[in-house]
Amino acid sequence: MDRLALVVPCYNEEAVLEISAKELKRVLSDLISKNKIAKDSFVLFVNDGSKDRTWELIEKECGESPMICGLKLAGNVGHQFALTAGLLAAKDMSDVTISIDADLQDDTAVIEEMIDKFHEGKDIVYGVRNDRKHDSLFKRTTAQGFYKVMAAMGVKTVYNHADFRLMSKRAVEQFSKYEETNLFLRGMMPLIGYETDNVYYERKERVAGESKYPLKKMLALAWNGITSFSVKPISLITALGFVIMILSICAAIYAFASYFLGTVEPGWTSLILSIWFLGGLQLIAIGLIGQYIGKIYIEVKHRPRYNVEKLLTHDEKQPDHDGEQSENQ
Ligand code: UDP
Ligand code: MG
Repeated sequence: MDRLALVVPCYNEEAVLEISAKELKRVLSDLISKNKIAKDSFVLFVNDGSKDRTWELIEKECGESPMICGLKLAGNVGHQFALTAGLLAAKDMSDVTISIDADLQDDTAVIEEMIDKFHEGKDIVYGVRNDRKHDSLFKRTTAQGFYKVMAAMGVKTVYNHADFRLMSKRAVEQFSKYEETNLFLRGMMPLIGYETDNVYYERKERVAGESKYPLKKMLALAWNGITSFSVKPISLITALGFVIMILSICAAIYAFASYFLGTVEPGWTSLILSIWFLGGLQLIAIGLIGQYIGKIYIEVKHRPRYNVEKLLTHDEKQPDHDGEQSENQ
């Protein structure tokens, strides 16, 4: 029987933690009673440097139930890293993992379907939202626009899939070999290449608490997704440079012709405007290249992506949970 680990990143989630612990335990018990997963399957809550009582609550849950484990990171590293930390810790203790947000916006009812697909031999099963009526109009439009921009940039992502997904042990093992610091998990998973499938669900409202993904973080994630996976923006800027150069040659020919035809007009405004326009364009181009160089700078430092402070499990044999630290120091 396969041991399932539900990996749940948590940042300031004191309002939902107990509710989600209860629900996820119910899901595990249900699957255990149906003989679909091993009896020692568990939930791994990853505390991403929360400033509230999240970790105390995780410790309490862990003390009360053998189904709950906790991983405490030293400081807030963000959702993508917290999830990676959880997956890599869970990989040594389980046969299959499912990542899910703490706020239960993703439908736990499809977990069984995910496990069924895993038993059919799929290595990655993506949870895909088929309905966004509970998201605000703004979130819905920006998110869908984002998937379209990603596709236009040539980045393979699963449309409308966030980070609710099942991964087999060997998929997580392959993923652990992608050691980049500029993480964008949704873009990385399709690169693993094993057999995948989708399950569809309706995304709900947060059970309690507020979104930990303000617009700033959302934009940062989208920007990181594009620039970590595609160099197309640089090609676009280069192409734009060419177009503007050709246009300016045409303008020069026109000006030359008007000089001979005697229709020339004193045009300071157009001159100044074109200087400003080109100056701005050059700054954008340099800035964009700077962004990529900045990424190279961050990558070559090869710093640990997160540091583990504590792992609470019910296993005698502790996994090598601080591998990330020791390998990279
Ligand atoms: N999260 C995290 N670290 C952060 C921000 C968020 O671990 O710095 C977790 C958060 O606790 C939640 C998940 O990431 O479990 C998704 O965040 P949220 O539900 O706030 O995002 P939204 O659904 O609004 O996009
Ligand atoms: Mg959420």
